[in-house]
Amino acid sequence: VGFQDRRYDERGQGDPGFWRRVLGEGDNFFNWGVPLFRVFGITVRLHMLFLLVIVARLLNSMRPDQIGPGQTAIMLLCLFTMVLLHEFGHCFACRRVGGEADDIVLWPLGGLAMCRPPNDWKAHLITTLGGPAVNLALAPILGAAVYAVTRNWDAVFFNPLNSTRGAVAAWDAGQLGAWLFWAHAANIYMFLFNMCLPMYPMDCGRIVQELLWPRVGRDKSLHIATSLGLFMAVGVGVFALMMNLMSLFGVALFAGFTCWQQKQNLRFMAASGMSDGPEFPTAYQQKDTAKERSKYAAALKEQQRRQAEEAEVDRILAKISQQGMDSLTRSERKALERHTQRRRSGQG
Ligand SMILES: [Zn+2]
Repeated sequence: VGFQDRRYDERGQGDPGFWRRVLGEGDNFFNWGVPLFRVFGITVRLHMLFLLVIVARLLNSMRPDQIGPGQTAIMLLCLFTMVLLHEFGHCFACRRVGGEADDIVLWPLGGLAMCRPPNDWKAHLITTLGGPAVNLALAPILGAAVYAVTRNWDAVFFNPLNSTRGAVAAWDAGQLGAWLFWAHAANIYMFLFNMCLPMYPMDCGRIVQELLWPRVGRDKSLHIATSLGLFMAVGVGVFALMMNLMSLFGVALFAGFTCWQQKQNLRFMAASGMSDGPEFPTAYQQKDTAKERSKYAAALKEQQRRQAEEAEVDRILAKISQQGMDSLTRSERKALERHTQRRRSGQG
């Protein structure tokens, strides 16, 4: 097993207990999630922040001018389902191209599928497109369902910048109309949001990076995409503050942090002479940030050592076949012996 194939997390050794399951190794805030269920071999977890937001939203909805906790719960459930389906799209696309995907964390700001596609731009691009593809496929289905119930085109083709008219049209048709409208609107917003902002690690930002990859190399493309992402994050963050849109501000903060962290990783890899080497997982793909980094460095060193040893053994074997066993120097014999011994003891 090469180290690329080796799983990074070491959970699942015995019963780690509830808090350990929720907080993981502890260091990485991105992984503080409550496990909800497991489908298709994918564990779906709810981030602690999401729990807080749900409680806050429900409490807020009890105010007299609000829609009430019952309706709010249904609205959140619609959003939750849409986010989950989008993330499943990433996971299945990732598996389709030969990658691994077994974990989804639902954030208040959306979902994070922990995808590990093969280290190549096409596999990454297909994994990224898998999410928005789900929204695109669902749009006509949900749109048709909304129309079937409301008989009102205003609810289907609502204005994304001001959805009040569409929502009112849906409400007029009763409960079912309202729920379907929420699911339909959540689906459209997810698609627009992911595809319109080239802000890494949002899908559009990733697509920019993945299209640049074959032209300038993986690390350079990441460098460009995260610089653009930081720039966008600042712009979107300022805009969100001006318009008092706290969720959007949260997304900008998250994107900005991810870009900054990815840049740190790139700097770390360049300094260690590992540019365009094995992939370094981004913050939310890691179980534990500091440990992950040293583990990565150790694994890479070990891989390089093995490659060097194998090349040396190949050279020695070629020498034997050309010049015979007697031509070997003492150190070459030693190297060959060492290699054979390691093979025998099953470490090679
Ligand atoms: Zn996505």
